[in-house]
Amino acid sequence: MPVEVKAYRCQYRCRRRATTVLASMVRHEKFCLKDPEHKTCLTCSHNSRNPGDDYEDPYFECAVNAEIPEGKKCAIDCDKHERG
Ligand SMILES: [Zn+2]
Repeated sequence: MPVEVKAYRCQYRCRRRATTVLASMVRHEKFCLKDPEHKTCLTCSHNSRNPGDDYEDPYFECAVNAEIPEGKKCAIDCDKHERG
């Protein structure tokens, strides 16, 4: 008979897999691109992608910050962030 285990998932409803290790999910949430407090492209009104798109890819196009080089991560705490 299988044993029931407790698992944790991200409170920001990103697609990160649930884990049984609480500490690793706590660590993830500190950098989760879906946390509006982190001011990432995913939570920015300038984000040109659809909310349903693959957000595991951290390299988002930023409509206002064209100088972000291709392949560069659009950082947390973007100074051009506007709440979407
Ligand atoms: Zn998350």
